[in-house]
Amino acid sequence: MSHHIELPPLPYAEDALAPVISAQTMSFHYGKHHKAYVDNLNKLVAGTDLADTPLEKVIAAAAGKADKAGVFNNAAQIWNHTFFWNSLKPGGGGTPGGAVGKAVESAFGSQENFRKEFANAAVTQFGSGWAWLVADKGKLRIVKTGNAETPITQGLTPLLTIDVWEHAYYLDYQNRRADFVAAVIDKLLNWDFAAANLARAG
Ligand code: MN
Repeated sequence: MSHHIELPPLPYAEDALAPVISAQTMSFHYGKHHKAYVDNLNKLVAGTDLADTPLEKVIAAAAGKADKAGVFNNAAQIWNHTFFWNSLKPGGGGTPGGAVGKAVESAFGSQENFRKEFANAAVTQFGSGWAWLVADKGKLRIVKTGNAETPITQGLTPLLTIDVWEHAYYLDYQNRRADFVAAVIDKLLNWDFAAANLARAG
């Protein structure tokens, strides 16, 4: 059986984000959770008209369709997780400069205010989901999505995301989601990735 969607390689070693995110968390989160979404999607679309469809088109085709909820959930979670790994880097965090820094200051008033609003969105997402920095017709804003939902179905361009499903932090932080979120924002966010996404948004 051909596997049309592959698990993308991590952009760094599994221990590269420690101690903010441990190698043990990465081995489960990437090696088990992310991989399972890939395996599940390949099984769900095998022999269907979505079998040879690129991932983003699978997500668009399945979004909002009750009979394709399984396809949507697995496809969107593949996309969201790949985007999350790229939203992080060892030695990241800090305050962005250049066009993305200016856009952050314009939208949120200050870098510190952005940091507070992004952390608040990540901490207050009820249950499983994601916090996102997105470009919306050239203006930056913060959105939250539940479960597998993704801003790419809403015409928004994601710049960065934080996964706040419990599997993202429970091994390292237990119930202290706010500590996980603060450490990710301050030490791991990949502003080069955000800048590249903003430039692509035009
Ligand atoms: Mn996850």
